[in-house]
Amino acid sequence: MPLSLGILIVLYDAWFYWIHRLLHWRPMYRFHALHHKSVAPSVWTNHHESLTEAFLNQAFYIIVPFIPPIPWQIMVVQKLYDQVSGMLGHAGFDHFASPAGRSPFPLASKVFHNRHHRHFRYNYGFTFSWWDRLIGTIHPTYDETLASFEPGTKVLPRPSDTNELR
Ligand SMILES: [Zn+2]
Ligand SMILES: [Zn+2]
Repeated sequence: MPLSLGILIVLYDAWFYWIHRLLHWRPMYRFHALHHKSVAPSVWTNHHESLTEAFLNQAFYIIVPFIPPIPWQIMVVQKLYDQVSGMLGHAGFDHFASPAGRSPFPLASKVFHNRHHRHFRYNYGFTFSWWDRLIGTIHPTYDETLASFEPGTKVLPRPSDTNELR
């Protein structure tokens, strides 16, 4: 069961990255523009999206039961995780700032998606940063900005990054 949950979270993150890239393609961006009206997102921004965008993201749950044999209960748990992390990821506050959210670790922090809303062309993933690192779409100062928010760090943020989060 835990392995199934881990596989599902990894698969959904890949789905989200590539659907998100598709939505930033010029002919498709009109379906994603509503979500990007929030340049400083709040918890409510999580569901501020068009019907087409919502369908493309949630189509994962139509397709995935035909690929690996994952119990439906695990899909419910993953969906709950996605809901909560989606809300936290738009909250404008990083509750869990730590080195685990930056290089060399694959997890993405809340700063990660906040930066996507601010800069549009970087950080298309959500739970993990590995697709952005692999494809080269990670924001160039993401790692050092996150490090500057960690307690006890001596890394100073760049002046343009100081208003990133409250
Ligand atoms: Zn967002
Ligand atoms: Zn976007």
